[in-house]
Amino acid sequence: MPQILKDRDHVASVAYEGRLHLVHAVTPCRSLTLQLSSTSNTWRRALRFTAALFLASCGPAADNQNPRISDQDRELGAEQHPALLAEFGGAYPGRQADYVAAVGEKLAVSADLEEQCTFTLVNSDVVNAFAVPGCYIYVTRGMLALVNSEAELASVLGHELGHIAAAHAQRQEQRSLWRTLAVLAVSLTGSERLTQIAGQAAQFFGLRYSRKQEYDADDFGIRVLKAAGYDPYAAGDMLAALGRNEAYIMASGGHDEARAIPEWVRSHPLTENRIERAHEEAVKTGLKDNELPEHEQALLGAVRGLLYGDDPEQGFVEGRRFAHPVMLIAFEAPPGFTLTNSPQAVGLAGPDDARGEFAGGPLPPDGLEGYANTLIGQILGEARAQAQVGPAKRVRTNGLPSLFVPVRVATQQGALRLDIAIYATRGGRAYHFVLVGPATRPSSASAALFRSFRLLTPAEVATLHARYIQVVKVKLGDTAARLASAMASDRGEALFTMLNGLDPEAKLRPGTPVKLVRRSTHGVE
Ligand SMILES: [Zn+2]
Repeated sequence: MPQILKDRDHVASVAYEGRLHLVHAVTPCRSLTLQLSSTSNTWRRALRFTAALFLASCGPAADNQNPRISDQDRELGAEQHPALLAEFGGAYPGRQADYVAAVGEKLAVSADLEEQCTFTLVNSDVVNAFAVPGCYIYVTRGMLALVNSEAELASVLGHELGHIAAAHAQRQEQRSLWRTLAVLAVSLTGSERLTQIAGQAAQFFGLRYSRKQEYDADDFGIRVLKAAGYDPYAAGDMLAALGRNEAYIMASGGHDEARAIPEWVRSHPLTENRIERAHEEAVKTGLKDNELPEHEQALLGAVRGLLYGDDPEQGFVEGRRFAHPVMLIAFEAPPGFTLTNSPQAVGLAGPDDARGEFAGGPLPPDGLEGYANTLIGQILGEARAQAQVGPAKRVRTNGLPSLFVPVRVATQQGALRLDIAIYATRGGRAYHFVLVGPATRPSSASAALFRSFRLLTPAEVATLHARYIQVVKVKLGDTAARLASAMASDRGEALFTMLNGLDPEAKLRPGTPVKLVRRSTHGVE
């Protein structure tokens, strides 16, 4: 039986699909989107959940003055929590997680939500944070690495608490809900696996908060920051940091297409206006900038040694390339494709609505054909009876025995084409690509993708190490360029100034602690 999972070490610990490299979000909110894309695992539950939200959206508006978590929300949140975590790479454990939870609880107390919320640090390098009804709040390690003070982190958490307190997720416009349902409808062909792959699409079409809801959450966060004793001006700083992150990603252009910002993030921009508004709201608190502390040192102490970028356990996405130092494999997607890494699979999104996955599992005794049969059965479910499978082609790809299988299947939305490629590697392992798209789509992209699968050389493996955040003090005469030269990045200086919130032209002050990104086999301090 081919496992859907690409890494057998994760078989026991995860359910499906994951980290959203797609969503280098410029807005720290995706609560509903995430719940719906977590459907990948059990779409029936998600539909039920969506229906519940529908009902909630028709009911009376929640009272903003007296936030309280309903038993129903608490139940739904608890039910979604493990699936959500699995989807986003799991929890990142240890002292950094404890730190996030402690700062979160401090905010929750000020928001009248004492001991009602669960704060989780997510093992994802995507810069994101989101809230789920039931007061489950998630912050990625990408976000933790980006902020420059405890107050900035607190402003992210305060913003998410704002969405919870105002029950924004329950007030989504019906139109948005329908959009997401339309994506889910792909699943109504009766195939759970197809839904998993389509879950990738759901991430693009996710629900979003309205501009007003964003502003309200910003304002709530700023009030809570002040109440918790943090500098409320940190909210504007945090938004500026997100803006720098977006600019950094955009500037990478073709070089780093995998980090491309999806359409919905672009249409939901982090405007200058939002940063200005946050500043004005901070002024309204009556406090001066820096009158209350930001606790920069506490944050830097916490992020020291934090994993940065891809987790080697999940393989490395670099641009359109994927390389896994443990599985010793690599491939490269054609131009226009984006890759989404997760513990279970690499999601692929390409031109002409092409969606797909790369994953692997043990090679069964009946070889590539047996693997293909099981895989197609898993993908199509009952729809297999209507599918036109083959003819399969046996080829060698970069020396590896492989099997290419085209599949055509009629759905309620029209004919779909599935292009499948399966490879046998040493140690009884097999890997596969599945690309799904409209039947009218030409398959030249899949051919290029399928030809690119290969084994890594030992020399390549030796270069694939995890990266960590190191905190050092600026020495006399240090420049951004000099410090950046120690960074594990081919855009070291840009990454250095972005991560530290520095003006590229500004002089560094000796003694100031700064974050560096270093590559290491054993972590850094
Ligand atoms: Zn938000």
